[in-house]
Amino acid sequence: MVGLVIVALVVAGLIYLFLDNNRRKKPKPILLKTSQLLEENIPFYVALSPENKLLFENRVTNFLENITITGVDVAVEDIDRILIAAGAITLIFAFPDWKYNNLSEVLLYKGTFNQEYDTDKGERNILGMVGDGVMNRKMILSKPSLHASYSSNTDGHNTVIHEFAHLIDKADGLTDGIPEYLLTQPHLIPWANEIKETIKTMKGKSHSDINQYGATNDAEFFAVITEYFIERPEKLKDHHPELYEMLKEMYGGK
Ligand SMILES: [Zn+2]
Repeated sequence: MVGLVIVALVVAGLIYLFLDNNRRKKPKPILLKTSQLLEENIPFYVALSPENKLLFENRVTNFLENITITGVDVAVEDIDRILIAAGAITLIFAFPDWKYNNLSEVLLYKGTFNQEYDTDKGERNILGMVGDGVMNRKMILSKPSLHASYSSNTDGHNTVIHEFAHLIDKADGLTDGIPEYLLTQPHLIPWANEIKETIKTMKGKSHSDINQYGATNDAEFFAVITEYFIERPEKLKDHHPELYEMLKEMYGGK
């Protein structure tokens, strides 16, 4: 009798484990939706192999589990979460273990804002920013710029990519256009020189194929050229082969 009870318990246990395992294997609805939204909106994801698509989805999900996205006077929709996470992961996809340890929260604003973080008053021309001081570990993105970033994927402008490039630059302690985690020692000085020379050339011209905002300083140059590299790699390669090769080296992983 005792033997029978033990056998019954073991069988019940095995059935439970089997069912539980199957339940775990079944993709969650959110994951199905994630892949669909990525497929519809993110060219970087569309171009990946099936295995890499899965890796990308997992990293997007992981990002969203760890970073809070808060709407300030605006609703946060699934598409907002996906666009933010996809931009973040695109830049670090070649580095399987990388996470944004210097970010806790992304604040989504209803529109552009001014230096006082106001979306209603004064001159409001800021599309996004990486916070400092009391805003440390926070990023602000305006919802319209978030959507504009992915409504045209070839105009060379992408606020999400721009702000995450700043965050990568900032990870070594200094937002100075020199992302030390992306560059090996021998490349540091050539990259700094390349920035200086290109900014000098941009300032000497009334028009540049690189967004003139990049000539503001070295940090903005790095963010702007990263947008260009992600959205128009072929054009960047044609116009600035040295910059293209250096960025490929940086974002391509080791
Ligand atoms: Zn910037």
